Amino acid sequence: MSRDNYEVIIGLEVHAELSTKTKIFCSCPTEFGAAPNTHVCPICMAMPGTLPVLNEKVVEYAVKAGLATNCEISRDSKNDRKNYFYPDLPKAYQISQFDKPLCEHGYVEIDTEEGKKKIRLTRIHIEEDAGKLNHDDFGGGSLVDLNRAGVPLIEIVSEPDIRSSEEAEKYLRKLKSILEYIEVSDCKMQEGSLRADVNVSVRKKGDTKLGTRTEMKNMNSFKSITRAIEYEVDRQIDVLEDGGIIEQETLRWDDVSGKTFPMRDKEDAQDYRYFPDPDLVAIKLSEEYIENIKKSLPELPESRKQRYLEEYKLSEKDANIITSSKYLSDLFEGAIKICNNPKAVNNWIISDISRILNETEMEPIEIPFDSKQLAKLVMLIDKGTISSSIAKKVLVEMFEHPRDPEDIIDEKGWVQISDEGAIKDVVLKVLEANPQSVADYKGGKDKALGYLVGQAMKETRGKANPQMLNKMFLEELKK
Ligand code: ADP
Ligand code: ZN
Ligand code: MG
Repeated sequence: MSRDNYEVIIGLEVHAELSTKTKIFCSCPTEFGAAPNTHVCPICMAMPGTLPVLNEKVVEYAVKAGLATNCEISRDSKNDRKNYFYPDLPKAYQISQFDKPLCEHGYVEIDTEEGKKKIRLTRIHIEEDAGKLNHDDFGGGSLVDLNRAGVPLIEIVSEPDIRSSEEAEKYLRKLKSILEYIEVSDCKMQEGSLRADVNVSVRKKGDTKLGTRTEMKNMNSFKSITRAIEYEVDRQIDVLEDGGIIEQETLRWDDVSGKTFPMRDKEDAQDYRYFPDPDLVAIKLSEEYIENIKKSLPELPESRKQRYLEEYKLSEKDANIITSSKYLSDLFEGAIKICNNPKAVNNWIISDISRILNETEMEPIEIPFDSKQLAKLVMLIDKGTISSSIAKKVLVEMFEHPRDPEDIIDEKGWVQISDEGAIKDVVLKVLEANPQSVADYKGGKDKALGYLVGQAMKETRGKANPQMLNKMFLEELKK
């Protein structure tokens, strides 16, 4: 039997760090990248006798996320202790939510080949992040950094509605863009702000019971998630085809070998001994509070996309790419407000900018220039100051050593040659050096003109105005 006889079932548990200024139960900053153990206090270091106080912004952000993903918001919610031991968890319990999460029964829509598909959300709850263990830098030992302990998270749990690695990627991208739009998380995957536990099982087509799942924790790149799912599906099918059974276990994905490995002993499901945290009060939300948050929601990706189709006549594909990220979308809107050339800005974003992001595995939020600078680049071409081939080089510079496009072309001497005398000099020089091409052209080979223009471009290192070159060559060749 082949892979075609099996159905793939995937459910994701996504953790997003919220971009509140302070932690969930104390007033320490949440900022990433500080020196170890400098963003800590007795509360997040779990000193005996300290008391947590819930950060109201965390509730607001979680409710925002719930509303933006079509969830029902609980009027009556609470925090629970999830007990387990690990050295990065100083209290030996994590404050999370068990049976009364803030948000439930939502969905996120993705575009598939068969049309729109709803991936249902079981729940969204709030919890605190753990600290971080540093294994690599210290011979033989590990050090604990508690800066991340107490950073607020939402955990978004999907139903097992996802049927392929492509759908998993689409779902995660959609979720990421929604969280970016409502500005509750910066979703920087490489900093761990957005990470997913990926649950995978397979079953024979036609079966109604779910197969046993395995779980790969803390995945934070689209590429590894796709590879890990593909690997795990093949592995599970092989086991089943050999007459074996799948063990429910936690696996570790190894990017280098491209394989999954068991992480823990095949113990029974962990017993977290959940109970309501006696140090915290119930979370009761009024209708008015929820209504106000609903009113504050910004325009979401789907609606922006529709607007781009109508107002700027973008193609569906381009509009999808641009609105998939709030940062790209803001870049687009900001730039066209200044340069008033939606078509050009659209092209820059979906071609050169997207390509560079891809090649450098950079996220749109990391683009080192702003919409004003992109608009300037477009205007420099529109005005004829630089050619579009030079503009591509300017863009690369803007990524590598961010500064204004004008400064770049000044420094590099990349201003386009549009002076008639200068163009004519080049044209005459190239004609004289290439008598064979001239003869070819005169003999009816139109292609020879392209070669001559190319030579002139080479001569001027891409700086000559191409329209003027063309015109001048034609004039001279007619003589
Ligand atoms: P936990 O992993 O915390 O014990 P759950 O039982 O709620 O939690 O399941 C977590 C995730 O696993 C959910 O996203 C759910 O959709 C997914 N899931 C559950 N059963 C399966 C299955 N048989 N195959 C694939 N995914 C599954
Ligand atoms: Zn603290
Ligand atoms: Mg899980």
